[in-house]
Amino acid sequence: MIAAQQVCVLGATGSIGLSTLDVIARHPDRYQVFALSGFSRLAELQALCLRFRPCFAVAPDALAARQLQEALHGAGLSTRVLFGEAGLCEVAAHPEVDSVMAAIVGAAGLKPTLAAVEAGKKVLLANKEALVMSGALFMQAVRRSGALLLPIDSEHNAIFQCLPGDYSRGLAQVGVRRVLLTASGGPFRETPLEQLADVSPEQACAHPNWSMGRKISVDSASMMNKGLELIEACWLFDAAPAQIEVVIHPQSVIHSLVDYVDGSVLAQLGNPDMRTPISHALAWPQRIDSGVPPLDLFAVARLDFQAPDEQRFPCLRLARQAAEAGGTAPAMLNAANEVAVAAFLDRRLRFPEIASMIDSVLNAESAVAVESIDAVMAADRRARERAGQWLSRHG
Ligand code: NDP
Ligand code: MG
Repeated sequence: MIAAQQVCVLGATGSIGLSTLDVIARHPDRYQVFALSGFSRLAELQALCLRFRPCFAVAPDALAARQLQEALHGAGLSTRVLFGEAGLCEVAAHPEVDSVMAAIVGAAGLKPTLAAVEAGKKVLLANKEALVMSGALFMQAVRRSGALLLPIDSEHNAIFQCLPGDYSRGLAQVGVRRVLLTASGGPFRETPLEQLADVSPEQACAHPNWSMGRKISVDSASMMNKGLELIEACWLFDAAPAQIEVVIHPQSVIHSLVDYVDGSVLAQLGNPDMRTPISHALAWPQRIDSGVPPLDLFAVARLDFQAPDEQRFPCLRLARQAAEAGGTAPAMLNAANEVAVAAFLDRRLRFPEIASMIDSVLNAESAVAVESIDAVMAADRRARERAGQWLSRHG
């Protein structure tokens, strides 16, 4: 019998983390949970530890770690509890770990995800912000360490499935004309433009097709999510921004498509459930049951497509500009967006101001090439400061 894969789930208490654990629980012979991390949902982290009995858990700080350690010891578990970014990096790079699910949201996931990459792990990438921020450096680290990087984002996982195995030779070399990135258009696809100033965080988080964390739900409503995904796709598939076209497809059944020079267009379809890409990446190149019900095409009945409206979705244009500028621009875009989304969720910013704030931060400085992760983090900090200043001027 082959030994079970040891999996580290970073961001275990979140939407992707829980879907990952749901898949793992279906295949106890194939996968064992080696480490789990959480941040604010500590009772959930404790419950997950009791259920999956990992070797390590990672809490946000020393106090939370001590409390969790005592609770787990009290329950007879020998789980070691670490804390903070250092703890996350330690478990991600641990010699006994085979696969790391990178499912922390936002820039907080950058260093732990990179630690997994640098240790040459099989890295299941959900934390798109990490790749958006540090693109070239991240991909260099993948090549240097020999890490296996598999996309979890449903669109990128779909593209990966529609590409030939040797696509890293270059998209043109394998006959790809363009990549079609599908987007649902989110909850405000048809909301009258003049009403967007009054939409609430609850409305923004009520995604029509997917159930996700709050930050990515707001990103989907503004279509910044598709902008981040465009940048993510450029790095994953070595594509130029112009080779990637965004297509609104409200049913979220086609998860993306690849258009070849001979006129063939390959698509990956499925129910909108993240357990499909998670299972695909966990088991790749094999296939395993994910718990997702079979796609019922008769129930779907129709598939619609439309071009995105840039007036409605200015974040998409801003992300394309940042992708074309390169260097520090995507890290600044991401940082400004994180501040804007948090402020919107806190009701300190109106929905259309998300794009205005990001635009202002991006215009405040020209992009420069990035030589190190420290330079990326410095650009992230400057953008957060500028976004904070914008908030105090407009708040
Ligand atoms: P959630 O908000 O549901 O989960 C985020 C996870 O990160 C939680 O475990 C959270 O802990 C943890 N976390 C939050 N802040 C920090 C921090 N500062 N340090 C360490 N850990 C932290 O998000 P999702 O699961 O929806 O998304 C996770 C990532 O996957 C994002 O990058 C997102 O873009 C990407 N993704 C998600 C999809 C989805 O369907 N949900 C689809 C495609 C990509 P806690 O909850 O305990 O606070
Ligand atoms: Mg996606």
